[in-house]
Amino acid sequence: MRILSGLTRILIVCLFVNLSHQCIAADGPRQRSILVLEEADFRSPFYLEIFTGISAAAKQNGKFPTVIYGESLDLARFPGPDYEESLVGHLKSKYAQRQIDVIVSIGVASAKFLQTRKQEIWPTAPVVYGFVPDLPETRALFLPDTTAIFARVRPTHLLTAARAIVPDLTHVVLVGGAWKNPLVYGQWKQDFAAAMPGLEVTDLSDAPLREVRKQVASLPARSAILTSAMYSDGEGTYYSPAAALARVAESANRPIVITSDTFLGRSGVGGFLLLPDSIGREAGEVAMRVLGGEAPSSIPPFNGDNVKPIFDGRQLKRWNVDEANLPAGSQVRFRELSFWERYYWHTTIAGSVMLVQALMIATLLRERRLRFLAQVEAGQRMSELAHMNRRATAGQMSASIAHELSQPLAAIMINAEAGAQALQHPSPDLGELRDILDHIRRDDQRASEVINWLRSFLKKEQTEPRELDFNVTVREVFQFLSVQAVARKVELATEASSSDIRVKGDKVQLQQAILNLVVNGMDAVAHLPADRRRVLGRTSLVEGNRAHLSIADAGDGILAEKTTEIFKPFFTTKAQGMGIGLSIARTIIETHGGRIWAENVPSGGAVFHVSLPLAAQR
Ligand code: ADP
Repeated sequence: MRILSGLTRILIVCLFVNLSHQCIAADGPRQRSILVLEEADFRSPFYLEIFTGISAAAKQNGKFPTVIYGESLDLARFPGPDYEESLVGHLKSKYAQRQIDVIVSIGVASAKFLQTRKQEIWPTAPVVYGFVPDLPETRALFLPDTTAIFARVRPTHLLTAARAIVPDLTHVVLVGGAWKNPLVYGQWKQDFAAAMPGLEVTDLSDAPLREVRKQVASLPARSAILTSAMYSDGEGTYYSPAAALARVAESANRPIVITSDTFLGRSGVGGFLLLPDSIGREAGEVAMRVLGGEAPSSIPPFNGDNVKPIFDGRQLKRWNVDEANLPAGSQVRFRELSFWERYYWHTTIAGSVMLVQALMIATLLRERRLRFLAQVEAGQRMSELAHMNRRATAGQMSASIAHELSQPLAAIMINAEAGAQALQHPSPDLGELRDILDHIRRDDQRASEVINWLRSFLKKEQTEPRELDFNVTVREVFQFLSVQAVARKVELATEASSSDIRVKGDKVQLQQAILNLVVNGMDAVAHLPADRRRVLGRTSLVEGNRAHLSIADAGDGILAEKTTEIFKPFFTTKAQGMGIGLSIARTIIETHGGRIWAENVPSGGAVFHVSLPLAAQR
């Protein structure tokens, strides 16, 4: 009963692969069958990959439907004649009614089993041997009408890998049962002696896992651990080889050389690795040839392409291994990518975005600077133009300026003469003399004011913005122009706001803007009869937060729809006009945060408005 239940557990009919829909078609080619006989358990990754490789090869063929049976003999874990007997009985009855067209035997143990027991179970089936070393002892196991694909990692393979990893190697530790198996690494002693005389070897192939773990924890510096698959520790404990390797690796203080790519990524550094998928595919391909009609004996046994030098990049880094020392043609897996490799796209995209951004920022900064320079240049031009405009205005007004000056000068002369005469009197009237001197001082002051105003008006540089009395600023302009107005027979009038209006700015510039408006007003009324030649300036405080000035005249008004145009540079309707007075006025007012505009009034004439923020708001 116990044996039977054990058998049920271990004997697995693995897969039933239908490779083509043709298999159910009555008139299609006959279905062929493959029996995969594995020496170990199908569920271990290594043997599962072999089986998968065989299935894949069969599937690729596609010439006829194929069914694949699979048996795990599991002979390593179940040694002994009793088990073998029950196994034979089981297989005999299981396959009594099934035709097996080819047996794919995987592993030496499986080959051995077939050598003695095939006749009883599958007497006529041809055999393809896979995963067997090319040794006389193995060839001796082969039955007639068979072929083989060899696969083998030699003891020297492990040594070569160990020397690549530890260039000054002097000592190796052997772990895993296969070191004792004459058909696997059994002859290591001779091989090592030939390859590296004097190599110190610690053979732990018989030692329990516990002992192995202890020993590998404190190995000398120039040593390496050479592992073969470890199924049992000789004390009745069975392992999956991968789990046993992981436990050894946990305590090992030296690099571990391995023999199968199914162990890679479990702390083994790498080595010449058996590739179970290739082993399976190669055996599967040969099996398909046999199913296709070729006699196995006509296919000479050959060495498969199923062992490759492969290493774990993370372990190479851990043990500081120079990849240049690895055997020729080595592959490195799990290579830790550099930051650049890992984030190539991220960094490229981020870098490009940053580059584009930097370019955009640079362009914007450049544009901003160019704009700033243009503004500075425009400002300079404007200020030069304004200066020219002031000089031209002063030139035009030179007659009235001369008049402004001659009046106080003449009065000074008269008063000085009157003073001189008074002094000739034996007892001069001191009170009269004091009055005369007062007049002289006042007239001198008046002349000085005209000169000072003119000097500042003609000055080229801008002055610092100052808080100004808006009413006074406007009145001074009207006063200055009064002489010219008299000469042109124009009445200039101002109506100052009763409120105190304080603005902040450059007095000369603001007065220039106002002056341009008043002069234009005088021009506008010049041709009118005397009673209509009037320009009125009016200041007011608007809504308590803006200074307002209007300059009104009774002229013909602004040309239709030109109330905006007139502020553009060089717009003029006058024969001798330059067309810059209003554009300068606008620039000055806007620079002071204000607004200037013009309108015609229905009763006739034009009104120019200037609105400025109060000093408190600037
Ligand atoms: P200019 O006085 O040299 O022509 P301005 O820039 O001072 O230059 O004036 C531009 C134009 O605006 C004038 O030629 C005129 O057509 C118009 N203009 C300005 N002020 C008045 C006004 N008070 N009445 C009618 N048109 C005016």
